[in-house]
Amino acid sequence: MRILVVEDEPKIAGFLLRGLDEEGHRVDVVADLAAARLAVRVERYDLLLVDRMLPDGDGLAVVRELRRARDRTPAICLTARDRVEERVEGLYSGADDYLVKPFEFEELLARIAAVTRRGVGAERLEVGDLVVDVEAHRVTRAGAELTLTAQEFALLRYFAENAGRVLSRTRLLDAVWATTHDPRTNVVDVYVSYLRAKIDKGFPQPLLHTVRGAGYVLEDRAR
Ligand code: CA
Repeated sequence: MRILVVEDEPKIAGFLLRGLDEEGHRVDVVADLAAARLAVRVERYDLLLVDRMLPDGDGLAVVRELRRARDRTPAICLTARDRVEERVEGLYSGADDYLVKPFEFEELLARIAAVTRRGVGAERLEVGDLVVDVEAHRVTRAGAELTLTAQEFALLRYFAENAGRVLSRTRLLDAVWATTHDPRTNVVDVYVSYLRAKIDKGFPQPLLHTVRGAGYVLEDRAR
């Protein structure tokens, strides 16, 4: 893959460059926002790894700009800030995932595999009248198209892949978010409520159910 690393800390940038190069990726490294903006304009990347604290601003700005231009290039934000609201903000800005520094290289590879896989699977998952087209990144309910953010889509996809199974918050957090997390985070509940507002609101039969004390389940209970 062609990967752009936006990181101003030479040690981390070097570590990423060496590791990803060894994995067979072609990596460009830039150290500030201005260089990142230029790089994405001249080159087509398969993945962006973006540090948030750059000398000239927040690295997420470049992701936000790409998303505004309808560019879905997978992006993972690298952050030293281990606060839930900032992670949620990162996902709001269009990042597909985040990693909190310091992280293990193996963990980065797993995150890369997850965010790049999300877009290319050739699956079509159906739960009742809800259809998740993994390849096209499209979701419809009763034939009507729904607009989901990347993170909402990732969560819905995982629910659809495990339809009928009760999924705990911890499991959802591990599967859809990073493995480094604060176990008290309410990010799962927050995103479940976003998802509900999109897939269930206005429909007489909800598909996303709360199982008290256990978690959530996506299933068609009308059948
Ligand atoms: Ca930095």
